[in-house]
Amino acid sequence: MLNGVDVVKAGETDWDSARVAWNLAVDQRPAMVARPGNADEVAAVVNFAREEGLRVAVQAEGHGANALGELGEDTLLLKTGRMTGVEIDAENRRVRVGPAAKWSDVSDLASPQGLAALSGSSAEVGVVGYTLGGGHGWLARKYGFACNSAIAVELVTADGRLIRTDHEKEPDLFWALRGGGGNFGVVTALELELYPVPELYAGMLAWPWERTSDVFHAWREWVPGLPDEMGTWARIFQVPPMPDIPEPVRGRQLVVVEAAYLGDEDVGSELLLPLRELGPEIDTFAAAPPASLGHLHMDPEDPVPFAGNGQVLDELPAEAVDAVVAAAGPGSESNHSRPRRWPRSLNARATPATDPMAREWSPPIDTGKPPCASPA
Ligand SMILES: Cc1cc2nc3c(=O)[nH]c(=O)nc-3n(C[C@H](O)[C@H](O)[C@H](O)COP(=O)(O)OP(=O)(O)OC[C@H]3O[C@@H](n4cnc5c(N)ncnc54)[C@H](O)[C@@H]3O)c2cc1C
Repeated sequence: MLNGVDVVKAGETDWDSARVAWNLAVDQRPAMVARPGNADEVAAVVNFAREEGLRVAVQAEGHGANALGELGEDTLLLKTGRMTGVEIDAENRRVRVGPAAKWSDVSDLASPQGLAALSGSSAEVGVVGYTLGGGHGWLARKYGFACNSAIAVELVTADGRLIRTDHEKEPDLFWALRGGGGNFGVVTALELELYPVPELYAGMLAWPWERTSDVFHAWREWVPGLPDEMGTWARIFQVPPMPDIPEPVRGRQLVVVEAAYLGDEDVGSELLLPLRELGPEIDTFAAAPPASLGHLHMDPEDPVPFAGNGQVLDELPAEAVDAVVAAAGPGSESNHSRPRRWPRSLNARATPATDPMAREWSPPIDTGKPPCASPA
C-alpha cells in the first residue's frame, strides 16, 4: 500500500498533467505516476513497485524523457518534482540539492558568492539527471564533467534501503552512479563541489549563415590553441519567421560562436581576436556573473517538443566541418528551430540606442561593470 503518497492512475482527473514530460514529443503512458515528497516516501514507492512486480522509472521534469524509452503498463513513473531544496556552504564550496533542484536554483545562491557548479547550457535542466549522466558544461575544459564534482549521493536502492555513498562508503556504487544515469536507485539528495569564478567574460558572436563555412573553419583552427579557461560552442542557428521573435533576427539564419572565459576582459578579448576579425554582425561579449551561463545558449525555458543527439569526437578534421556545412548549412534542407527566450543575462555590446536588436532584447543583468569595448 502507498498510504499518504501522491499517486495518480490512468483515468484520474490530473492524469495528463501527472504523466507529461518536459520534452512534449514524448507521450508517457505508465501504469501510474507516484510523486513522493521525501526519502521515506520514495522508499515506500520502491517497495510497493517491487511487491507489485512493476518497474520503476525516475524523472524530475523530463528533459531527458526520450532516453527512458517506452513506459507501459509494467512501469511506475516516480516523479521527484516535489522534492526541491538547495543548501549552499559557500565557505567549503559545497552544495546539497534535492532531486528536483534545477541549475538555476543552484546558481541563484552560488553566483552572488562568485561560485559556479559545472552546469551546462540550460538553467532549467535538473541537477541530478544531468550529473548522473555525466554533465558536460561551459567549465568542462577546466574542471571536467559534473559527475566528477559529486561529493556524495543519497539514494533508495531497489531493495528499498536509503543509503549514502561517497568515495569511502560503497565506493563501487558511487563510481557507477557517476555516469550511470538512473540505473542504480532513486537519488534523494546529491552533494556537489562548487568552483571559484571571480571573473567571467562570456557572450556570443553571430554572422549571417552564408558565412558558416568561414566561421566554422576559423573556429576549428582557433579551438586547439585556447587555454582550458575558455569553453566554446559553435552552431548554426535558424530563427523561424514567427511574430514573437524580435524583428531584426526574425526568419534569420545565423552562424554563432558562444564562449565563456574564466578570466578578465582584456585577456578574453585578445583570445577572441581571430574570430572578431571575421566581422561578426552581433557581439554580446561582456563581463558577466556565473549565473549568466545558464542563459547564454538561449535554450528554451518552457516545455517543448524536441529531438536531439550527440557524439564525442577524437578530432575534428576540415572534411568533417565541410560535411556539417553541407548537411545543415546554406543550401541544405535543414529546418528552422525556434528560440523561446532571448539573451538577457549578458550585457550586449550594442545598446538599445544604437541597435534595434538590443532594443528588442530583455534588459541585461547589471554586473557592475561597463559593457565590453567594441571589437577591433
Ligand atoms: C534544453 C536542454 C539543454 C541541455 N544541455 C545540456 C548540456 O549543456 N550538457 C549536458 O551534459 N547535457 C545537457 N542536456 C541533457 C541533460 O543533461 C539530460 O537530458 C539530463 O538527463 C536531464 O536531466 P533532468 O533531471 O532534467 O531530466 P529527467 O528527464 O527528469 O531525468 C533524466 C534521467 O535522469 C535520471 N534521473 C533523474 N532524476 C533522478 C533521480 N532522482 N534518481 C535517479 N535517477 C534520476 C533518470 O535516468 C532520468 O530518466 C540538456 C537537455 C536539454 C533538454
